[in-house]
Amino acid sequence: MAIPHENMEYRRLGATGLKVSVLSFGSWVTFDTQMADDPALECMQAAHDAGCNFFDNAEAYAGGKSESIMGRVFRDLGWPRWSYVLTTKLYWGIHGNDPNMRNTLNRKYLMQAIDGSLERLQHEFVDVVYCHRSDPNTPMHETVRAMSDIVASGKALYWGTSEWSADEIRHAIEIADRHHLHAPVTEQSQYNLLERRRVEREYGRLHEETGYGNTIWSPLASGLLSGKYRDGIPDDSRGALAGYEWLRERMSDEAAIAKIERLRPIADRLGCSMAQLAIAWCTLHPMVSTVITGASRASQVRENFGALDVIPQLTEDISAEMVQALK
Ligand code: NDP
Repeated sequence: MAIPHENMEYRRLGATGLKVSVLSFGSWVTFDTQMADDPALECMQAAHDAGCNFFDNAEAYAGGKSESIMGRVFRDLGWPRWSYVLTTKLYWGIHGNDPNMRNTLNRKYLMQAIDGSLERLQHEFVDVVYCHRSDPNTPMHETVRAMSDIVASGKALYWGTSEWSADEIRHAIEIADRHHLHAPVTEQSQYNLLERRRVEREYGRLHEETGYGNTIWSPLASGLLSGKYRDGIPDDSRGALAGYEWLRERMSDEAAIAKIERLRPIADRLGCSMAQLAIAWCTLHPMVSTVITGASRASQVRENFGALDVIPQLTEDISAEMVQALK
């Protein structure tokens, strides 16, 4: 069973009473594409050993195989169900081009997709189910009612949004409040030193007024902020995978790499790695309930959770220096 790491902070998920570890672990790109069951288990165990209680997945990751791997790993690890928070996300679908089963948040899709996810995960419920994107082609009240019904049925305990606009989130909350339905409680947005606008500006008032939380993703901008791309793209990195050419282009951007290098002296001064510095920085924003880290091997998990020791060193001055370095 998890013995919480002495440095781990457990924050409320938005305005709910659910406590989530400030650093958490997700499986995008890595599970199935880069890792089979054994290394996946090693990563989850390493995160858990560091006090992580939040594990993120999505129906669409590796076409459902990521959920299947995580399901088998949870079964093998045998942790008590009450000791961790499991999340998944629905929207893109995994049933080819069927018009009702892809890129949608219609009721039919959501009701069937949650059952598929639970089956692959070998769980009776997930703690949080997210709408992985917004769907302008389904009326908001249909989506809100379906998500609320999923919660009411016990298949999820809370629901959230991912990359929705602040207006869409407010609209969903208003509908839920008006009809006494379960309202969404948290976003899942990209947030890192290179991608700050949405969390810091767009969601500012929403967070202040409703306490809406955020379980943020890509704290390393897919690894870029670790500084490892200075010498080219390593063969074993996601930047070298077929199908990730869009990412490779970003990782080869010399101007971005040069800018990121300006963070290296700050990391050196604090005695930490650039990855740890970048991850620790993401925890400073008050809207952030948890920073979902990713890793293609357990050694990265151990390094990344070492960011816990860096958080107390990040004064306002150092944070401002980091932001300034990237301008
Ligand atoms: P990061 O930005 O932290 O990128 C993780 C990747 O960076 C790793 O897989 C690894 O890639 C590399 N890396 C990690 N640690 C180190 C290190 N210490 N040194 C060097 N390289 C390192 O996070 P992700 O983009 O993976 O996102 C995290 C999670 O957020 C996902 O797993 C998923 O759960 C969630 N997410 C949600 C999205 C959404 O739309 N809601 C979208 C994307 C992610 P490699 O070794 O291959 O180079």
